[in-house]
Parts: sequence; structure tokens; C-alpha cells
Amino acid sequence: MQTVVVGAGAAGLWAALHAASIGPVTLVAPDPAAGSSTALAQGGIAAAVAEGDAPSAHAEDTMAAGAGLCDPRAVDALTTEAPLAIEELRRRGMVFDEGGAPTLEGGHRARRVLHAGGDATGRAILRALVASAREERRIHWRPERAVALLVDRGRVRGVRLERSELESWRVILATGGATGIFGRRTGPDRATGEGMALAWDVGAALADLEFVQFHPTALDVSGQPARLLTEALRGEGAVLLDAGGERFMARFDPRGELAPRDVVARAIALVRDETGKVYLDAISIPNVAARFPTVAASCAAAGLDLAHDPIPVAPAAHYFTGGILTDLEGRSTVPGLLACGEVACIGVHGANRLASNSLLEALVFGRRAGLAPDGRGPSVTPTEPLGGPPRPGRAPLERVRGAADRYLGVRRSAEGLDAARSVLIVGGPADGTNAPALVAWLLAAAARRREESRGGHFRVDFPRTVDAWAVHQVVTREGWGKLPAAMQAALEP
Ligand SMILES: Cc1cc2nc3c(=O)[nH]c(=O)nc-3n(C[C@H](O)[C@H](O)[C@H](O)COP(=O)(O)OP(=O)(O)OC[C@H]3O[C@@H](n4cnc5c(N)ncnc54)[C@H](O)[C@@H]3O)c2cc1C
Repeated sequence: MQTVVVGAGAAGLWAALHAASIGPVTLVAPDPAAGSSTALAQGGIAAAVAEGDAPSAHAEDTMAAGAGLCDPRAVDALTTEAPLAIEELRRRGMVFDEGGAPTLEGGHRARRVLHAGGDATGRAILRALVASAREERRIHWRPERAVALLVDRGRVRGVRLERSELESWRVILATGGATGIFGRRTGPDRATGEGMALAWDVGAALADLEFVQFHPTALDVSGQPARLLTEALRGEGAVLLDAGGERFMARFDPRGELAPRDVVARAIALVRDETGKVYLDAISIPNVAARFPTVAASCAAAGLDLAHDPIPVAPAAHYFTGGILTDLEGRSTVPGLLACGEVACIGVHGANRLASNSLLEALVFGRRAGLAPDGRGPSVTPTEPLGGPPRPGRAPLERVRGAADRYLGVRRSAEGLDAARSVLIVGGPADGTNAPALVAWLLAAAARRREESRGGHFRVDFPRTVDAWAVHQVVTREGWGKLPAAMQAALEP
């Protein structure tokens, strides 16, 4: 019997290629070239391949970014298997820039980020993987959307598509993240957590939903997409200015503009609230437009000149850390259902993702899911009631995005999170089309419960990190549970 893989970003394609080594595969995705975060990834992919670097050092940096919530076993798998993933990418036709010499990126203490096509690494990976998958005779493509999972006696047995059904011995969800529930986002429009909603409907556990990584400097021009203004600009000397033209970062962190991503994002959000606007001034960087052509083009599309104008910026939702809870082989809490890539929560990122680790996660755990033996994933027993309907009613996407931008962003509070939940449950019936409202509601509920600040979750009313909260929040239709930081170890059946 076949495997069904849903989603054709890096995780889905890689899972399908490996699953094809053990049997036939149907790959369900509307259009592999469009609608994925993989296609937008600019920075690169991390792996300890340079002389003097080691997977253990990569693991240390990953754990430091994760703010006490990384699962060491998942991080060990990620970093140890990274060089093998890069090697296999090369064998499948991927060509890295500068002969594969890695570069340095924020949070990494060694040169370990590989690029392709300048700032088009994701597109290059997608091209290589789509070509490989098209050559694989055991992979059959279905350009459709999955709208439900089929369950028989407690086990997932296939998927319902828009026009048909597919039976399978296992379904691997690789449908990407949910930053599309935000209006201000850097990712694709359709990344609204459909995979998480499909898994939720068959009783699977979701975890760590309160942790969202916000990119600090996205273009802030109404009517324009929130295009990234890469952190490398600040690395080269670009400075942040308030509406009055004054620098402000020194008051938040001695590292100024080079402080970690979450610190800069919070500072910008606060100063925007205080003064109305924040600008990134890159005018002093020599040849800035030639050195950053993608950014210069995004600015030009908004009528701005990177070389002469301070550019308005604001934080935007960039990476969805939480997702479907899985073990290290990608198995969810429901037999027959697996997940990998941004839709999954395996424990590698903890409360905050280290830059360039997510394409890597998609490959390392895509392969593991593709090859996973049959068997049960983790089991979870919730101990506290859900405190709301198991599926909020259907709210129009624009209402969800408005509420997410207003209440679920960089700076959260009890009051705002309560308001978000009430906005999200009113609306039409819960009928399976409301993935954005469901995911946003669960995010708001998880963030309301976590009375501390950590990684990608900041509460203005609980600004400190609290040791007792060094736990993962897990949720199913039955209610909430908490798991210790070494999540997978606690989940062994
Ligand atoms: C602007 C930007 C820049 C980034 N830069 C980097 C970087 O430099 N390095 C890095 O490591 N990470 C980066 N990331 C993050 C990284 O790109 C993603 O985490 C990663 O690509 C996710 O891969 P994925 O395969 O899990 O999901 P995706 O690539 O998002 O693919 C999801 C797929 O699922 C399909 N799908 C969704 N729902 C359904 C459904 N119901 N039925 C069928 N198909 C469905 C979609 O159409 C798509 O094909 C960046 C992200 C963004 C937005």
C-alpha cells in the first residue's frame, strides 16, 4: 500500500523521495513551485561542514537559541545528520555558492550557513528536489489540496482531497507553518495552518503553539507585502531610527542594532507604539543597492530608494515554531499520521529558532519520516480542560489576521489575549474550513496560559523568564497537558 505525502516544500519533497525507496508514494500539493515558504527562503541552510566546526558546536548554538526548551536528542539528530543532508543535496544536483564555503550568520559561532543563487537558497533547493522527484517513477503527483484525513478504528488510513479520496498505510503531513494567520507576515499567503487543523480534527496533539518568531525588519508600507530587509544590513552598519530620526537601540541592549532578533523585534514594536514609525537607515553602506539587490528591488517597488531614503520597518511573523507533536521519526500521537517540516513540532527549535536551521530540519526529519517504520508515536494524556470550543467557528481570514496582528504579535498581554479569543470564536459554524481561526485561537489560549516571557513569546504583564515554565504546552481536543523540556524522552511509549 502507498504512502501519501501532503505538501511539496522541502520537507514534503524530501520525505517523498525517501519514502519512495520503500514503496509507492502519492505526493499531494497544488503547485510545488508556488505557495511554499521554501521558495522564499533567502538566507541559507546550516550544517557543520567547515574545517574546525563540529555538529556538537552547531548543537550548542541551537540549544542556546532555544531558550531552555530544545529537546537535546532532536538537536543531536539535526546537527549530526546535517552534513549528510548537504551531501545528498549535492548528489541530487544542488550547487552551492562559492564552492560550498559556508558563511557566518547571527547566533552561529562558526561559518556554517550554505547559500545558493545569492539570496535564493530556498528556490535552488526546491528546483533540485522537484527535478529529482519528477524523475522518481514511484512518486505520483496529485495537484490538489487535502481537505480531511480518513480514519478507521483510530488509525489514519488516507486523505480526502477536493475531488477524490486516497487510501494509504500512512499519511505524512508536510504542509508548512501558520504565519499566514497574521496580516504582517513574511511567508506565503496560504500558510494558514491547514495541516495542523487536519491533525487536530483526528485527535492529534499540537505543541508549543505560543512560540512565533517575528522578523524585526520587514518593509512597513501599507498595501505592500512585508518583504524582508535582511539582518545583514544591520551587520554592515545600517541603524534603526525612531519617528524623530533618533537612534534608540542602545536603550534596550548594549549590542545595539546587533542584538538578537527577538530583542530587536520587541524594541521596534515598542518604539513604533511610542513614536508611530521606525526606520532602517542603510544610507551609509557603500554601494548598498548593488550589494543588496533583492532588498533594493523591494524598496523600489514601494517607491523608496535604499541608497537615499530611511526605510520604514516593522516586525512581521516569520516562522511558526509550534505544530503537530511528533517523535524523532515524525510519528504523531495518532497511528498512521506523521508530520515533518514547519507543520511539525519535533523539539529542535525549543522556544526560538536558530537562523537557517529550518530548511535543515525539513530535510533531516523529512528523511526520517519518509523512512519511518510503522508503530505508535508518542502518547499524551491531557490533564486540564480546553477552556473553549474544540473548534472555533468560522471567522473570515481578514478578521483572524486583524486579531493576530493586534493581539498575538511581539508584545502580548492577558487582556489582549482574552480579546483575541473572543474575536475568534464568534462567526459561522465550525465546518473544517476554519484552520486560521482554530490555529489563532489555540495560539491565543497557549500564550494566555504561559505567564512568563521566553524565546518567541513575550508578555508585557509577565516580562521575566520563570524556571517553572521550562515546559512544553501540549493540547488536544481533550485538553491541555505540560511536558518537561526533554520532550521526546518523556514521550517514549
Ligand atoms: C521569507 C522567508 C525567508 C526564510 N529564510 C530561511 C532561511 O534562509 N533558512 C532557513 O532555514 N529557513 C528560512 N525560512 C523558513 C523556511 O523557509 C521554512 O521553515 C521551510 O521552508 C518550511 O518547509 P516546509 O516544507 O515545511 O513547508 P513549505 O515550504 O511552506 O511547504 C508547504 C507545502 O504544503 C502545501 N500545502 C499546504 N496546505 C496544503 C493542503 N491542505 N493540501 C495540499 N498541500 C498543502 C503548500 O502548497 C506547500 O507546497 C524562511 C521563511 C520565509 C517566509
